Amino acid sequence: MQKILNYINGVLVEPQSNTWLDNYKPSTGKVYALIPDSDANDVEAAHVAAKAAFADWSQLPKEKRSAYLLKIAQLIDLNLDKLALAESIDNGKPLKLAKTVDIPRAAANFHFYGTAILHYASEAHSMEDTAINYTLRQPVGVAGCISPWNLPLYLFSWKVAPALAAGCTVVAKPSEITPMTAYLLSELCIEAGLPKGVFNIVHGLGPKVGNAIVSHPGIPLVSFTGGTATGKQIASIAAPLFKKLSLELGGKNANLIFADCDYEKMMSTTLQSSFANQGQICLCGSRLFIERSIYEKFKTDFVSRVNALKVGEPLEETTKIGAVVSLAHQEKILSYIALAQQEGGTVLTGGHKVELDGEHSQGYYIAPTVIEGLAYDCRTNQEEIFGPVVTLTPFDTEEEALAMANSTPYGLASIVWTEQLTRAHRLANQIHAGIVWINCWLLRDLRTPFGGVKASGVGREGGFEALDFFTEPKNVCIKLK
Ligand code: NAD
Repeated sequence: MQKILNYINGVLVEPQSNTWLDNYKPSTGKVYALIPDSDANDVEAAHVAAKAAFADWSQLPKEKRSAYLLKIAQLIDLNLDKLALAESIDNGKPLKLAKTVDIPRAAANFHFYGTAILHYASEAHSMEDTAINYTLRQPVGVAGCISPWNLPLYLFSWKVAPALAAGCTVVAKPSEITPMTAYLLSELCIEAGLPKGVFNIVHGLGPKVGNAIVSHPGIPLVSFTGGTATGKQIASIAAPLFKKLSLELGGKNANLIFADCDYEKMMSTTLQSSFANQGQICLCGSRLFIERSIYEKFKTDFVSRVNALKVGEPLEETTKIGAVVSLAHQEKILSYIALAQQEGGTVLTGGHKVELDGEHSQGYYIAPTVIEGLAYDCRTNQEEIFGPVVTLTPFDTEEEALAMANSTPYGLASIVWTEQLTRAHRLANQIHAGIVWINCWLLRDLRTPFGGVKASGVGREGGFEALDFFTEPKNVCIKLK
């Protein structure tokens, strides 16, 4: 069986303990690879390598760091088919999605930060003829990067690329549920000739490897994407150590649909924003609020379009909904569907597992599910499900829609469908979220700030914000007389 290896000090190595975890293929429910069950000793080895590499890497001219990142981007592009297939097998997502979104975006992340660093500048503050201040932006040190399973290489590279561009060296941990493409990336970094120790990947469990990174005194900053409960735990460990922290956490995003919207555009995008990647995108809009005058029409049309989404084997071209990522996650999603029914909800479509034939009969498939009749403040509508499940709720006024949208502890993203310009701007101003999409969804310009408010996180990724995070500003004041 294939063994995934750690990438430490420029080489691929087994975990020091020589213990391994099973890696499951969600489309069949079978083990297909082994993952290092690394521990604090492996993190320590990675840290020693990253610390030793920091002096040279942080002093390397940015043009040279840029060239390494651009080379990695190029190698990802060249290996698109291999990486997309690996991502689809490891995660359960449709191959088509991995090919058109996940892997191209991972290459784009390296490309973007490989060029962004060339344009990154700091400020000067003149005190007329008394003094001049200028700000140095220096890489912080060894960065810890911890990422989730839903967009494995895409989100892993979203952290690692800016860290490396800024001049930090990295100890990174991908999710133990989807480690394969991070492993393949380590092979590409070796091929790119990335100097040893600059980038280290330690595979394994969150409470072991992740915790060892977060609590390591020699790792002064941690960039984390994952669940809110994990983020809370990480913050409690990192805060007394005065670490810099970037936390990108969960969401429960609202999709506000007004009667004056462009109906067809709204309908096709809402299918995407509800069920892309089996609803396992932190930006999916899982709470649909629909103006009452179009509620019945929307419900009928939406349910019929959802019924046409093919749940199937991820590698099949026509599959729209693949497998969810794990058995545990499948059970969690089904438990929320049961909860919704206990809370008085009516399942309009879906609500059950889908059993495919042959070798896929044990895969983790769930039919896309639409539920109505729930109170906006019930648990189903307040807690993150992170699966192919959405709720429909009618509203009568803009104020009511806004109040319901803002009612959760989360504040990551939101979507508004209206052709009324003033309403669009008014809502964008009032919605509690880090990202508001008007008449679109998942349209991303990598220069824009990315992140959430409230329980959805602390800090922003994207653009120069990420380079700010991985560098420390130092003010230098020079008296002129
Ligand atoms: P998770 O919190 O379980 O795990 C995320 C990562 O943290 C994994 O690598 C895991 O091994 C590690 N980890 C777990 N426990 C840890 C600990 N005690 N210390 C250090 N590391 C630890 O999240 P998940 O289930 O992998 O991902 C799903 C969640 O991620 C959802 O809540 C989703 O909304 C969120 N997410 C957020 C964004 C965003 O940008 N805001 C993007 C994608 C996913």
